[in-house]
Formats: sequence, C-alpha cells, structure tokens
Amino acid sequence: MTGPDLIAQAVARSANVAEVVIGRGVLAGAAALYARHFHGPACLMADTRGWAAAGPQVEAALNAAGIATRAHVIPATPRPKPTVDLANSLRDALRPGETPVAVGSGVMNDVVKHAAFGLGLPYMCVATAASMDGYTSAGAPLSERGFKKTIPCRPARVLLADLDVIAAAPPEMTGWGYGDLAGKVPAGGDWMIADALGIEAIDDVAWPMVQGGLEGWLSHPERIPAGDPAAIEGLFLGLTLVGLAMEAHGSSRPASGADHQIAHLWEMNDLHHGGQRVSHGACVAVGTMAALRMYDWLLTQDLTRIDPDRLAASAPDLAAKAREIEAGFGPGEVSERAFIETGAKHTEGAALAARLRRLREVWPDLAPRLRARLWPAPRMAEHLRAAGAPVEAAEIGVSRDYLHRSILKARFLRSRYTVLDLLDDCGLLEQAAAASLGPGGQA
Ligand SMILES: [Zn+2]
Repeated sequence: MTGPDLIAQAVARSANVAEVVIGRGVLAGAAALYARHFHGPACLMADTRGWAAAGPQVEAALNAAGIATRAHVIPATPRPKPTVDLANSLRDALRPGETPVAVGSGVMNDVVKHAAFGLGLPYMCVATAASMDGYTSAGAPLSERGFKKTIPCRPARVLLADLDVIAAAPPEMTGWGYGDLAGKVPAGGDWMIADALGIEAIDDVAWPMVQGGLEGWLSHPERIPAGDPAAIEGLFLGLTLVGLAMEAHGSSRPASGADHQIAHLWEMNDLHHGGQRVSHGACVAVGTMAALRMYDWLLTQDLTRIDPDRLAASAPDLAAKAREIEAGFGPGEVSERAFIETGAKHTEGAALAARLRRLREVWPDLAPRLRARLWPAPRMAEHLRAAGAPVEAAEIGVSRDYLHRSILKARFLRSRYTVLDLLDDCGLLEQAAAASLGPGGQA
C-alpha cells in the first residue's frame, strides 16, 4: 500500500480526523475543504512566520468563496512558547461562532489544538512545515506551570498540507521533523521491551502504522536539505501517519519513548541555543542519539546472568526515589508531578524480582529482535547529519554534564516504561549513561 492509501485508511478509522489533503498546490482548495467540514466564519491563527508562509493565500481563498475570516497573528520572534497560557490566550481571542484555523507548524498547531478542545470546537490546520508529528495526534505537548505534559485533546478535524509551502520552509525545520521521526526507532525498542515484560502490549494497529514505513521514510536524509519534493512528501506522510497512530492507540506510546523523555526535560527547562528556543525535533534528535547509544551498550550485555532476587533486594524503594527526584528537580510542582508519574510505574520486592526473572528468560529472544529493529547509533548519526538535524548535545547547547544528568533523571517524568527503566531495574543505568555520552568519553 502507498503512503496516501495508508493515510486514507487511517483517516477512515479515525474518530476525529475527517480529511487529510497533502499535495502540491492544494492551498487553492482551502475554501472547498473548509466548506465540507465547517460553517460560519474562520479565525486564522498564526505567528508572523506561519502567516507569511500561507496566511494570505488561505485568507484570499476563503474570502473568494464568501467565507468571512479574521486573522489573529502573534509575533514569531521570540519563538512562541508551547504553554497552556498561550493556548488559553488564543482560546480567549476566539469569538462565538468562529472556527479556529491554525496556519503554522508545531507550536501554533499545538496551542490552537488545545484552545479548540477547551471550547469543544473542531479545528482546521494548514501545515507550513514537516517539522513534527502533532498535526494528526490527539495530544498537545504543552507546559503548564513548568511541567511539560502531553495533554489529551482532539487532533485537527481537517489537515491541509501544500507541499509547495512545506518545501519552502527553512531546511532546518524539515531537519527537526526528521529528528522527531528518527525518535520512533528507539521508541519502537522501548515498546518491544514493555511488551516482552508484560507491561504494555504492542498494538497490532498502531505498531505497523509507525514501524512499517519507518525505514523507508528515513532512508534518504540527504535529499531533505536539498528540498527534494518526493523526500519531503515521504517525510510528511510519515509524520502524519505517526500522528494518526497515536490517536488510534490512545496515547503517544507508538511514537515516544526515552528519546522524548530526555527531550522533554530540555524543553521544560526552556533550552535556548544561539539566542533561539531549541525546537522539539532538535531536542528529540539528540535524545534519540542518547537512547540508541544506551541500546548499543545494553546489547553488549548478557542479561541472562542477572540475579533477580539480589537486584530486587537492593533496589530503591519509592521513598528513595522521591529523594532522588527532589535532588534532581528541586522542590516544587515539577518534583510533585514527577513523583506521581514515577509512583505509577514503581515496582519493588517480589513483583520486581518476578519482572527481572521474566527479563532473564526472554532476553535470548528479545535481544536479537531489538538488534534487528534498532539502528546502531553511528548509522543514525550519519543520517541525522545528512538531514540537517543535530546529533551531539553540544549542537543544541547541552553540556556533557547536563546530558548525563538528563539521562539519569528523564525516566521520572513519565509513567511509561522504557529502556531507561529496564537499565535501572538491572542496576545498569549509571554505566549505560556513561557509555552514551558520545565522543569524548565519560562526563
Ligand atoms: Zn515528538
């Protein structure tokens, strides 16, 4: 099946996404698309960069068809912050009867998604870059009082993606999209681990939507900075399918593992580099390298030799983890939220020993399957570089020491079980973290 067929199939199954139009020159059809799914006036919401990319064309197309529009445009510099506060300000800017239309990429789509959901309204998205996978996903990753969380929402009812607009986006943005998609490689490994340990079963619908085409979507990174339309179309189709897979599964599990947990830490800390807020996809690219380096190290270990009873006896209890969380995040709301997430997956005593026995048993089968599915870190580094995405932490302004601390505490942010938890359960997280810092040896 081709990419567009897979999307049509996924849209037919989607509870919320009614139509996805991806193609060259499709912006001209914006009014007909709007009229098929909405009525009444539209409020076009963008930042100045997104507006410049497609705003006037969308406005003209809708107006020509007799659809009233109003533009709500916010500054693009400094780059808008993905927060619930920004989403609430857009919600408050909407007038009764208006349908929100996000014209933009990651942050604008996420905040409009949250604003629309808060009002119980469907929304339309006109995508301006292949920079992340959130157009068709049911969650909005936003910070609320300093804690970044994927907030359940509804995806865009209608997605319009004109490949001429998307190919004209700054190449670095397409590199971010490539980085976000690359994260699905270690995220797949994390799900395989959770499945093999009986923690979270693989879903036969969502898994192939992401993992089925992944190798192909990631296969020609060098064509992306060159603006090759076929490569950018493949990347956009992949990101769209991933979004639909998250909606189909009901959580971001198909698309997000340790790589995203590490990235979320930096996003929560409002990481800046070179005077700019570092994008989600750039953080994920570096998080992906850290996760794959840990996998490379893990796959040299023989976990059939672990001693489940000894490990369970010496494992930290929840109180010890609470102390580690407070030491890592400082007192306050972030620590409190992290403690709740950690408590949801905390296992100790006989239950932990049983899980480790199961790990010891399944390892001879799981390890080769992980090896076959995952990419060695050096291969991913080459691909990310060719796509114009960052590889090493220093490229996004993260020092080796900060990277090291991030790897050690990222697992506390989410209740989702990943390679970080497996390593921690085996008492190997410190060693794996030291091995995953990249060129230059230990921190
Ligand atoms: Zn992502």
